[in-house]
Amino acid sequence: RERLRAVRDRVRSFPDFPVPGVLFRDISPLLKDPVAFKALIDLLEDHLRASFPKVDVIAGLDSRGFLIGPPLAQRLGVGFVLIRKKGKLPGPTESISYALEYGKAELEIQSDAVEAGQKVVVVDDLLATGGTMCAACKLLARLKADILECLVVIELKGLRGAAKLEAIPFHSLLQYD
Ligand code: IMP
Repeated sequence: RERLRAVRDRVRSFPDFPVPGVLFRDISPLLKDPVAFKALIDLLEDHLRASFPKVDVIAGLDSRGFLIGPPLAQRLGVGFVLIRKKGKLPGPTESISYALEYGKAELEIQSDAVEAGQKVVVVDDLLATGGTMCAACKLLARLKADILECLVVIELKGLRGAAKLEAIPFHSLLQYD
C-alpha cells in the first residue's frame, strides 16, 4: 500500500544507540516530511474509525506519543491526555514504576485525566519490550478507563512486547524483527 510505504521509507535506523547492541528506529524523517506525516495520521485515523465506533480520548506516552496523539485526536474530534515521566505533572496524580532493560522508570497521569468508563486509545511511536505501554495501561486502569487499544507506529516483534499486554488489544502499523 502506497501510504504505508511512504511511512516506512521515512523511518531511519541507527546501530548502537543509545547503547551498544541496540538498533534505534528513528521517526524524525517521518515527522519532517509533511506528506509522510500526513500519511501516518491518515492510516492511524482510518484504522481507528474502522475498528471502533466510538473513541472518547487519545492518551499519549512521553515523549513521542505527544507528537502522534494530538493530530490523531484532532482528526477524531476527541481530547488528548498526557502520560508523562514522573515529576512533570501538577496536581493529584497516579504514578507507577516499572522495570526497564537496565534500571527502572516511573510514569504518571493526572487523576482527572480520564473519567471512569471513558473509551481510551493509548498511542506511542514504538513498542519494544512493552514495559512502558503496560505501565501506562495500569495507570489508565486505576482511573477505570476502558482501554480500547494500544496503538503504535513501530513494533519490534522480536521483543514480544505485544504478549506482555496480554488481553489488551494492540495494533502496529510497521513491524521489524
Ligand atoms: P519498551 O518499554 O521497551 O516497549 O520501550 C518503548 C519505549 O521506549 C517507547 O516510549 C519508545 O519511544 C522508546 N524506544 C525504545 N526503543 C526505541 C527505538 O528503537 N526507537 C525509538 N524509541 C524507542
